[in-house]
Amino acid sequence: MADEKTAMLPVAASMWLDDKLAAEDSRHHHRRRAHTSRTASRTSATRKEQDGNICLQLVLPVAGTLALLAMALSLPFLLELPNTLAVAGTLSLYSQRYKPSFSNDELKRILLSTPSNDSAAEWLRYYTSGAHLAGQNYSQAAWTRDRWAEWGAVSHITAYDLYLNAPVDHSLALLKAADDKKKDGDGSEIHWAVDFRASLVEAVIPEDPTTGLKESVPTFHGYSASGNVTGPVVYVNYGTYQDYADLEKANVSLKGAVALARYGGIFRGLKVKRAQELGAVGVLLYSDPGDDGEATEENGYKAYPDGPARHPTSVQRGSVQFLSIAPGDPTTPGYPSKPGVPRTPTDRYIPSIPSIPISYEDALPILKALNGHGPTSKDFGHWWTRNEGLGYRGVDYNIGPTPADKVQVNLYNEQEYTTTPIWNVLGIFNGSVLPNEVVVVGNHRDAWIAGGAVDPNSGSAVVNEVVRSFGVAAAQGWKPLRTIVFASWDGEEYGLLGSTEWVEEYLPWLNHASLAYINIDTGVGGPHFGSSAVPLLHDLVYQVTSEVQSPNQTVPGQTVRDTWSGKIGPLGSGSDYTAFLDHAGITSVDVRFSGGGGGGGGDGEDAAAAGTTAAGTTADPEPVYMYHSNYDSYHWMEKFGDPGFAYHKTMAQVLGLLVAHLATDLLVPFKAGDYADALRTYVDKIREQLDKHGKEAAATTASAVVGSNSHEEMAVIRGRKKVVADAAVAGLDDDDVEGQHNFRVALDRLYSAVSELATRATALDAKADSLREKVGKGHDDDDDDNNDNRHLLTEGRHNDESTSPTVVFAPKWWRRLVRRVHRIWLAFQVAHVNRRYQYLERKFLYEGGLDEREWFKHVIFAPGVWTGYSGAVFPGLVESIDAGNWTNAVRWAGIIEERLHAAAKGLH
Ligand SMILES: [Zn+2]
Repeated sequence: MADEKTAMLPVAASMWLDDKLAAEDSRHHHRRRAHTSRTASRTSATRKEQDGNICLQLVLPVAGTLALLAMALSLPFLLELPNTLAVAGTLSLYSQRYKPSFSNDELKRILLSTPSNDSAAEWLRYYTSGAHLAGQNYSQAAWTRDRWAEWGAVSHITAYDLYLNAPVDHSLALLKAADDKKKDGDGSEIHWAVDFRASLVEAVIPEDPTTGLKESVPTFHGYSASGNVTGPVVYVNYGTYQDYADLEKANVSLKGAVALARYGGIFRGLKVKRAQELGAVGVLLYSDPGDDGEATEENGYKAYPDGPARHPTSVQRGSVQFLSIAPGDPTTPGYPSKPGVPRTPTDRYIPSIPSIPISYEDALPILKALNGHGPTSKDFGHWWTRNEGLGYRGVDYNIGPTPADKVQVNLYNEQEYTTTPIWNVLGIFNGSVLPNEVVVVGNHRDAWIAGGAVDPNSGSAVVNEVVRSFGVAAAQGWKPLRTIVFASWDGEEYGLLGSTEWVEEYLPWLNHASLAYINIDTGVGGPHFGSSAVPLLHDLVYQVTSEVQSPNQTVPGQTVRDTWSGKIGPLGSGSDYTAFLDHAGITSVDVRFSGGGGGGGGDGEDAAAAGTTAAGTTADPEPVYMYHSNYDSYHWMEKFGDPGFAYHKTMAQVLGLLVAHLATDLLVPFKAGDYADALRTYVDKIREQLDKHGKEAAATTASAVVGSNSHEEMAVIRGRKKVVADAAVAGLDDDDVEGQHNFRVALDRLYSAVSELATRATALDAKADSLREKVGKGHDDDDDDNNDNRHLLTEGRHNDESTSPTVVFAPKWWRRLVRRVHRIWLAFQVAHVNRRYQYLERKFLYEGGLDEREWFKHVIFAPGVWTGYSGAVFPGLVESIDAGNWTNAVRWAGIIEERLHAAAKGLH
């Protein structure tokens, strides 16, 4: 709980103080380095440095006056905050002339050589040694804070009061009508006998100690409702919006029924949400081995721990919050959950019907009880018959419902809700020159199980290695140009709690100071590199992955980039970048190594990635990752996930360089042109869809992906509320020619807004490139400076006086003045360009938010409203088209157009 008034703004303020102290410190360091490395001119170096300091004191007022004069020429310029900040940035860039105590090359060497397989393994062993559910992991928070502090980060814990559930009790029984039915009067009273009682526990495996821990977490759903319900069963496939629509079309009612859905494709909470809307009284979610790809028992592979297949008793825990409506504490949407804040009702954000996750072993008797009742999956087509994995165990995949007088299930779920503290750990390396430009790097610490070796603690181990590496550099005198904030979030699993509450609390500060957010959730689950990012960061991801050696080289020297397809997906939701990007408009990226097997759920794109790679069958199938189960353990990681921990080390190298570029490159390493290109593609896609629109549209899109094994595509196609395909039923305006015409006109205007943005973006990138070159070359000379050619604003200086006659023939004081003005001008341009990049993403926020989910404010990216994980592009627009509401589609085209204009203007 603590005093958490301290938090970020005061911390940010104290950064300045820390900086001053650190500046002193680095000056000493600098001097020390000068002494050791330049023994020949020991005394002169010291003298020059002192001269330099005196010079600096004289130069500052002059520089300040000149800059102010220049600014005063256009007064309105001064009135804008970003420009004022640019001036501040200019002055600090100039006054310190960004003299890092060592070069970016030295830093890179440290970041590549420090991470080790062994210490990553050690951190992973620590985090997976006991339960660490949200709000029940203070010792791990304190441990993390202490390690980070040891390694040189200014570290503290910040707490929030969260509304959370903890499992109390549960049971699941299959009931069959007893034969000796007793008639009484005109009605009949059925006597039910328990035909099967589900175990609801995962088997203990002697060789995997995690599975036998006393403190094992029961199988349950975060934010599920308590209840004791009985009803017939209906099999609802993946529980996507379109699966439920198919049931409605076939007149299969969910009223009073218990829905049985398989995991996969979309976020689990949305499966429960739709079932609840259609009148179901409870939901069971099971993991069908058919979604595991090649490594199944049906294909002859042994189950964990003897082989790569899923253990039949493995259960996927997880949150059933309505993630696509708003993440974070469901009682405090949009504001931080501090002690004593007002709390609102939760109906919009979490279910009111009970649900539990079950293993396929427990699902089998229920699936079999459906045999012979109602239609079968074959009657509903390929979306239903894909990846059916239990046919060989006698399941016919009948839809049901089971006859209400013969077969029912009883689901009992008791949850205790409390408001309880959760703990984020923050570790800060203060920026030396631009402390108010901030890079945040986050991973969550909480897990559903005692293990959590892949999700999330492979990421935690990787982040620890990165903090330790920066610590090694810091111990040698390194300081970042910008401020780096490392975060170990709590409560991600329940609904991105720690990160969301933190972003909501520091929104004003983040709004002006944040440059980028880097997320790592499941750091390592296998050998396939993957990334999702906003287009501004694509280029940097390619650059960084080209600088790190791949652990699985078929040709010597191959980098991570060489062994990766290069596909970068959009950010949907399902991990902690959500509040940063979708609520605060902060440029974000997510990185991971994932495995090939074990589709049917996963944090964000991991699920999709797993589904995709599973399609590429190889001789040796990849082991199934048993997400959110007791078998996501250290033992699994050591034996199957990352034996030898080479991928942990590689991930730490990739993450370290990603952070380093963002925090130390003088020019912000974004590419605005890539954003414009991506936007053009998105508009093209919408036009394409529009051209295909009409009666055949749905069929065309669907047939294009028949046979595809990708969960991502399945989610995108099936996880949409497309009423237009059903225009006749819904009575909507598919034939509204005028509406469609108006929308086409709006789309044309969107095109020209994208073009305007593209022109400005290309110009900004060109400007940044030329500045990069100038900064690299340097426009300085030696006379008021010691001879350290590692200064960025003076780096690699070639004495180009000969090219400038003024400089050659003018008096020395004049030459100095010209050079200083030149340097200020250069620093100003750098600060100006950086500011344009920093605030570009922010321009895509629409204050009113998306329709019926106003917490989501980004007009270009959001999780699909009925997918949760998958990223939707132009969500407001696409949802309006799906709804056949052309008026609203035109409205959204207008909102987006206005945001694009603002973005273009901001790049000027
Ligand atoms: Zn996770």
